[in-house]
Amino acid sequence: MGDYNISVIPGDGIGPEVCTEGIKVLNKIGEICGHTFSCTEYLAGGIAIDETGVPLPEETIKGVLASDSLLFGAIGGPKWEDQPQHNKPEAGLLQLRKELGAFANLRPAIVFDELAEASTIKTEIIRGTDIMVVRELTGGIYFGGPRGIEGEGENRKGFNTMVYTAEEIERIARVGFDTAMARNKKLCSVDKANVLDVSQLWRDVVTELSKEYPEVELSHMYVDNAAMQLIRDPKQFDVIVTGNIFGDILSDEASQLTGSIGMLASASVGGPIGFFEPVHGSAPDITGQALANPLAMIGSVEMMLRYGLKLHDEADKVNNALRQVLKDGLRTGDIMQDGCQQLNTSQMGDAVCERLA
Ligand code: NAD
Repeated sequence: MGDYNISVIPGDGIGPEVCTEGIKVLNKIGEICGHTFSCTEYLAGGIAIDETGVPLPEETIKGVLASDSLLFGAIGGPKWEDQPQHNKPEAGLLQLRKELGAFANLRPAIVFDELAEASTIKTEIIRGTDIMVVRELTGGIYFGGPRGIEGEGENRKGFNTMVYTAEEIERIARVGFDTAMARNKKLCSVDKANVLDVSQLWRDVVTELSKEYPEVELSHMYVDNAAMQLIRDPKQFDVIVTGNIFGDILSDEASQLTGSIGMLASASVGGPIGFFEPVHGSAPDITGQALANPLAMIGSVEMMLRYGLKLHDEADKVNNALRQVLKDGLRTGDIMQDGCQQLNTSQMGDAVCERLA
């Protein structure tokens, strides 16, 4: 039994709607297992720009860093698209990731049997897919310098720098190996070592580290091939570890195999506290209509319990309840199928809670 301080950033659009359901499930699991989860809400994203002028107020950073874990909804929307680059909601999210030092992003792509037909890929190819993409999150080309746009008129040039230190590579590779050890002991490291020097260093460091993990079967794959293999034969993968830009693209591709963005959870770990959020954005097109699927957020709560608070039994309980809801034929609109019963956002949260009890 424990007391945990959870910071919650509901954000914009459907962020607050799905956060409500995540907190509902968290409180229910607390009630069942004898834990107290005290949730405190903070501002970030568009709502923070409206209320404070900036997408990530200092108070949010302080509050989040003083908590045990962060549950994050979604940020952004058309209202803030004309903000200057440095003051966009997304800039707040990047800054928050940096402040938390969460250098490892874990993105599961699980094809639930009940939803296999929702994928655009043939059912026999994707049924049984269960991949974890481990993406480096605070380095690489998104953060490397020099960067910018220089010159005038036709002579303008834009440039970014892809840079990784051996230390950065080793720490993310270690997360990859540890994750593989807790799963099926297969790790595929994705790079572009045939072209990029930074990728050759990546490959060398990963190979060196593999000596510490003799049980893990390590393979290396070029990113272009990985993009193809994910579609051709996704079941060949257990854990994929890769850098920031490749991971950004491949994790979206892997998640699309599952066919429904409303089911996808993620975790960002490695810093003092973990950061747990659904993969989807603020979905302005369905905001305020009780149409949002809260299962991605509830999956993020599961990841928070497992990877953030190390409450594995509690995480398993949430996972079982989520799977049971699908088995029982309950669906939100985005994953609706013939013969199933359609629920709204809060009914789906309630259905998960009922199956927890
Ligand atoms: P989106 O993920 O918000 O929506 C894409 C499509 O998926 C929409 O049709 C939406 O209705 C649907 N969808 C998303 N989540 C759903 C859910 N839980 N249940 C049912 N349907 C769902 O992506 P977008 O439309 O490209 O972006 C909208 C805004 O969100 C933009 O401002 C973007 O910058 C922002 N965004 C934020 C994050 C984040 O906060 N981490 C991530 C991605 C996009």
